[in-house]
Amino acid sequence: MANHGPQKYLRKKTRQINVGKVAVGGDAPISVQSMTITKTADVDATLQQIYALAAAGCDIVRCTCNDAAAAEGLAKIVPRSPVPIIADIHHQYRMALAALEAGVQGLRLNPGNIRKPEHIKVVASEARDRGVPIRIGVNGGSLDPALYEKHGGLTAAAMVESAQQELKYFEEVDFNLVKISVKASNVPLMVDAYRMLSEVTDFPLHLGVTEAGPLPGGLIKATAGISTLLLEGIGDTIRYSLTADPVEEARAGRQLLESLGLRERKNVDLIACPSCGRAEVDVIDIAQKAQSAFADKKLPLQIAVMGCVVNGPGEAREADLGIAAGNKRGHLFVKGRNVAVVPESEMVDALVEWATFIHEHGTEAAIKRVDTTLAEREAAKDRSVALAEKGDDANHDTEKIVEIRRTVAEK
Ligand code: SF4
Repeated sequence: MANHGPQKYLRKKTRQINVGKVAVGGDAPISVQSMTITKTADVDATLQQIYALAAAGCDIVRCTCNDAAAAEGLAKIVPRSPVPIIADIHHQYRMALAALEAGVQGLRLNPGNIRKPEHIKVVASEARDRGVPIRIGVNGGSLDPALYEKHGGLTAAAMVESAQQELKYFEEVDFNLVKISVKASNVPLMVDAYRMLSEVTDFPLHLGVTEAGPLPGGLIKATAGISTLLLEGIGDTIRYSLTADPVEEARAGRQLLESLGLRERKNVDLIACPSCGRAEVDVIDIAQKAQSAFADKKLPLQIAVMGCVVNGPGEAREADLGIAAGNKRGHLFVKGRNVAVVPESEMVDALVEWATFIHEHGTEAAIKRVDTTLAEREAAKDRSVALAEKGDDANHDTEKIVEIRRTVAEK
């Protein structure tokens, strides 16, 4: 595939902090975060979810720490987790102290919910002594009522001021292991708040659209907000807040960063033609089956599913591997070169087998393992059959153009 590698968008320079073994900010790769939805006190269920999240590409996992049982659960979870754990703290500052005692690698404090300066400073001092970072997690839905009133409602400036207030308390106790988020469920508001925040601080920023909702709308809203900012060079770590299995959040985060070229590709990039009058198979069905077959395979390849052998191999010639349908058969191609023909029912299995081979042995070895002349001959045969059946204007473009010209001329 045309692998352009991680892009160097002009990323705003931020300070770097460490959440356990994961660096955040500066020139560290943009990290993916998610949050468990189990009861943190249920250690086994929570660890199971953390492992699933890590396998899906999540770099840092947050768990709620809302009571003593959750804090005790964290004490058992943290040493067994494959990724750093952040405790999510809302109303009780004592839970932050308990989570630090449990050994978490980070805290998230909501300044709208813990408002007493003395409580904030006690937590920041303890975190400072332990070298544990804190995210100032401003949330549009739980903004300090005083700021809401001062700004005449929920505004970008109100959210930024909330973060700045918290920073001031941290500075008073000489604590600076900080990252900040100013999330809102309204995308333009969230984008404005982060833009404003990045003008006034160089602490690393954690991006997210809060309460984005179920799929697919939630995915679209979160992607709109997060990618707009990333392309402006704003953001050091991201989280999709979806009403879905958190594994979907991790996958989405990872996929967004890979598709923007901000993280090295680790997973299959499945491309597929949109299908048209020339399609010889149900492209949507085959593409979905291929997507499921590759979902958990760590293969950094671009793989194409194309509806016809007439145009498919040419249109997807940049893909590492692809398959195009023709005359009830699947024509496999590697970097645009036909390599094999399989029955239509075996198209997905064949893709998996070839993808695994390419990953292990490389493209050249894949091309060498077969007689490409034979495959090309078969493809040419099926291409002729398709052209004979549907002509070279399967989508009836020419007919339509003639009709359009006639209509226009009549006017
Ligand atoms: S011409 Fe073939 S490859 Fe292109 S969209 Fe139509 S079916 Fe897909």
